Amino acid sequence: MHCTAVLGAAQAASTAALLQARLLGMARRAMATSLLCVPPPQVLLRPLAVPERLLLGPGPSNVPPRILAAGSQQLLGHMHPEVLQVSCPSPAFLSSPPLPPARDWASSARVRGTIAVPAGPLLPQVMDEIKAGIQYAFQTRNRLTLAISGTGHCAMEAALLNLLDRDDTALVAVNGIWGQRAADIARRLGANVHELLKPPGEYFTLWDIEEGLVQHKPSVLFITHGESSTGVLQPLEGLGELCHRHGCLLLVDAVASLGGAPIFMDQQEVDVLYSGSQKVLNAPPGSAPISFSERAREKMLRRKTKPLSFYLDMSWLANYWGCDGELRRYHHTAPINSFFSLREGLAVLAELGLENSWERHRANCTQLCQGLCDLGLELFVKEEKARLPTVTTVRVPEGYDWKEITAFLMDNYSIEIAGGLGPSVGKVLRIGLMGCNSTSGNVDRVLCALRDALRHCRHSRL
Ligand code: PMP
Repeated sequence: MHCTAVLGAAQAASTAALLQARLLGMARRAMATSLLCVPPPQVLLRPLAVPERLLLGPGPSNVPPRILAAGSQQLLGHMHPEVLQVSCPSPAFLSSPPLPPARDWASSARVRGTIAVPAGPLLPQVMDEIKAGIQYAFQTRNRLTLAISGTGHCAMEAALLNLLDRDDTALVAVNGIWGQRAADIARRLGANVHELLKPPGEYFTLWDIEEGLVQHKPSVLFITHGESSTGVLQPLEGLGELCHRHGCLLLVDAVASLGGAPIFMDQQEVDVLYSGSQKVLNAPPGSAPISFSERAREKMLRRKTKPLSFYLDMSWLANYWGCDGELRRYHHTAPINSFFSLREGLAVLAELGLENSWERHRANCTQLCQGLCDLGLELFVKEEKARLPTVTTVRVPEGYDWKEITAFLMDNYSIEIAGGLGPSVGKVLRIGLMGCNSTSGNVDRVLCALRDALRHCRHSRL
């Protein structure tokens, strides 16, 4: 039996090699008779081979089969003219709570104009389902809720470039790389930017923030909920109210924390909140949930200048996502399969329930932290309540090279963990437990691999 399997594998390998040689020969012969001077790259004549790995870094996390399957479905017709004729009232936009499930709208879709609605789901229906999922994950009833066609950075740019008008002042809370990036983006937009600094590993108190608001009188405050470069969870309680008392809007980055730690957009008076698809939502990177409060929407309506980017102009995107009550117009070709995956990631979260998801991340993070301490390692974030449940940071132990440790885990256990990023480079190792990867079994696996690494990489460069 074993022998047959080995023979079969050998045969398959030699057939693949033969096929590759034949393809290469064909390509070379074609080149000889054509005007092309750049040959087809040999690397592309081999099949794509993606190794199986357990992704326990700060993201992306593994994509479970259900979400992979959703993303590999055939495309749905994009916004063809007949689709554009259909009235697509976003349930979130037109109605007050409780929101009707998006399926109700789909099955009773009305028709404007003369063209009938084709049977089966349309892309706008999937988009409406995504909106409802984001509203649940964010705990918001904001009508301007959608997914950006891009990664977390794209949502960060979209938030800043739509909120900040010429000559606006922004206050950016910097305690890791994400504040640094936001300040960089805001400066590129020509805003008047002030940074509020805290050492990596620490969070901002209301008092810190109030000082900055009084001193700089910004119209927007940027802060990171889950600082994945340092492993800090920023408390948000009272922050929205404080900002509003000082005439400032609150913009929060929840790329690394959404679904892993409580966030209540409406109750906490957050004006703009964005996240990413590839962390707790376990979808591939490429789409980024975002939502704007009424206050934020009003500020955008009062803009003196157009946002610098057409692609990320929220007035276009609001229409494209059916948030403005108008007929949807073509804006760009949606990354349709990314939207399918995001929809499924949000569905998994809705089925599990936010509270269960938060509790699962909390419990597994606690188990991990305990295990790291038992290995004699030092957690980077001192205060337990300030630890981000999705990404744990631990100091690189004295005398070790962090790159050797991460390489050891990859080579021997096919587990990815990461070193530091930005201000934490060289200081920490980062271990992510996100969505389906946040399990007690994975905590055991990574601790066992780390124990082995500490034994084998010990002081090797000293
Ligand atoms: N903000 C935070 C807190 C993040 O963790 C990340 C991704 N690591 C980003 C923003 C940027 O997201 P992306 O890499 O998807 O552009």
